[in-house]
Amino acid sequence: MSVELMAVGEALRAESIGTSVRIQGWVRTKRTSKAGVTFLEVNDGSSLQNLQAVVPETLANYEDLVLRASTGASVNLEGEVVASPATEQVTELRVLCLDVVGDAPDYPLAKKRHSFEYLRTIAHLRPRTNTFGAMARVRNEVSRAIHAYFQDNGYLYVQTPIITGSDAEGAGQMFQVTSLDLERPPLHEGRIDFSEDLFGRATHLTVSGQLEAEIMATALTRVYTFGPTFRAENSNTARHLAEFWMVEPEISFCDLTMLADVAEDFLKSICDSVLRNCPEDMQFFNDRIERTVLSTLQHIIESDFVRLSYTEAIELLRASGRMFEFPVAWGADLQAEHERFLTEEHFKRPVILTDYPASIKAFYMRLNDDGKTVAALDVLVPRIGEIIGGSQREERLDVLERRLGNQGLDPESYWWYLDLRRYGTVPHAGFGLGLERVVQFITGMQNIRDVIPFPRTPRNVEF
Ligand code: ATP
Ligand code: MN
Repeated sequence: MSVELMAVGEALRAESIGTSVRIQGWVRTKRTSKAGVTFLEVNDGSSLQNLQAVVPETLANYEDLVLRASTGASVNLEGEVVASPATEQVTELRVLCLDVVGDAPDYPLAKKRHSFEYLRTIAHLRPRTNTFGAMARVRNEVSRAIHAYFQDNGYLYVQTPIITGSDAEGAGQMFQVTSLDLERPPLHEGRIDFSEDLFGRATHLTVSGQLEAEIMATALTRVYTFGPTFRAENSNTARHLAEFWMVEPEISFCDLTMLADVAEDFLKSICDSVLRNCPEDMQFFNDRIERTVLSTLQHIIESDFVRLSYTEAIELLRASGRMFEFPVAWGADLQAEHERFLTEEHFKRPVILTDYPASIKAFYMRLNDDGKTVAALDVLVPRIGEIIGGSQREERLDVLERRLGNQGLDPESYWWYLDLRRYGTVPHAGFGLGLERVVQFITGMQNIRDVIPFPRTPRNVEF
C-alpha cells in the first residue's frame, strides 16, 4: 500500500476519498466519545477547516497516545480518507497509525477564544489560530497578486537599498543606522563625527525606495519595488507600523491621470484575486471579523473610483456641515476623519484625491501651472482612509532645484537625482501602497498589528 503525504486542505476534498495518506500537523481540538473513539481536529495551515481524524480504540497504545495528542501537539497520522457521516465535512481520516511528534502540555491556546491584544503577547503561537492562519493565507495571496499584476503588465521587479544616505521624503522620521560605539562616539568640534562611521557619513533605514526606483524607471521604463520600509514615527494608531512593506511602481512617460488609472486597476486586480483564490478565508473574515468585507470588495471591483481634486474635497467637507475634530482649511493636510467621511459616507466608494497644496507635499512632486498645487494623488478607501500615496514627479531641472531650496534641502546631496533631469528627462510618476493597509482593508481587521506576523510599533519588538 503506497502512502501519500497529503495536505489537510487536499484531504478535505471529495476527490481524496479512498486514498491512503499521511497527514502531518497540529491538534486543534480533541474529543473522546463514549463509543470508544477519539476525534482529533488536525490543521497544517493549508486550509481554514480542520481535518477530522477518527482514532479507534483498537489502536496499539491507544490510551497513552490519545492522552498525549492534546491541543497544540504535533502529530503524524496515517490512514484512509473516507466519506464523513457528519454534515460539517465531506471527508474524514480513518486513522491506522498515530504518532505524537511533539507533546504540548499546558498549551496556552487551549481555551477557545482569546482577545487580539492577548494574542499579540504570544505572537509565536498566534499563527495557529483560525484568524491568523487565514490572515497569513490572504497576505500571501495579496503579495502574489501584486507581483502578478506588475509582471503581467510589463514591469520589472527591482530591489532598492534598505540602508540609505538620503531622506526620500525630506522630512521623514528615520531610524539611524550606525557602526559607531554609541557609548563613546568619536567627536569633532563637539558633535558626533560620522566620517568615522562605516559609510563615512550618517545613514538611515529607508522610508521609501522611490528615489532609487526613479533611477531604474528612467532606464527601464516600468519598474516596481516591494520591500520593507521603516518609519520612526512615534504614533500609536491602528494603521501605522514602524516597519511595514511597501509596493512602489515607478513609470516613465506617465502623467497623473495615467497613474490614477494604474492605481485603480491595480487595487481592483488585488481584490479580485483574493475573492477568487481565498473564498473560504474571506467568508471567515466576513462572518467573524467584519460583516461587510465581501460586499465591499465586490463593490470595489465593479464601481468606478471617484476622482476629485483636494480643493474640491475641501469645499465639499466644509459644505457638509459636519463637525470634525480637526478643522478643515485649504492648505492643511486631510486627517483620517476627513478621508473616511469622503469615502465612507459621502461617495461610498474609493476616492482618488489629486492636486494637493505644494506646501504640505514632498519636494519631488510636480508643480502644477497654478504654482500652488502639486500633481499628487492619494487613494482613499472605506475604513482605512489613505491606502495609496503617489505623484507625478517634477521632471524640470530648474523647478526641482527651486523646490529643494524652498524646502531647505541641500541640492548638493541630491546631485544624482538632479542628473536624471539633466540627461534625458521624461514625465514620470509613481505611488506607494502599504501592504498592511491593503490586508487590513481586505480582511476587515481593526488593528494593523494583527495583519503582520511580527509587528514593530513603539516599545514593541519582541519576536
Ligand atoms: P499616512 O498619512 O497614512 O501616515 P503617509 O502619507 O505618511 O501615510 P506615504 O508616505 O504616502 O504615507 O506612503 C505610502 C503608503 O504607505 C501609504 O499610503 C500607506 O499605505 C503606507 N504607509 C505609510 N506609512 C505607514 C505606516 N507607518 N505603517 C503602515 N503603512 C504605512
Ligand atoms: Mn501619503
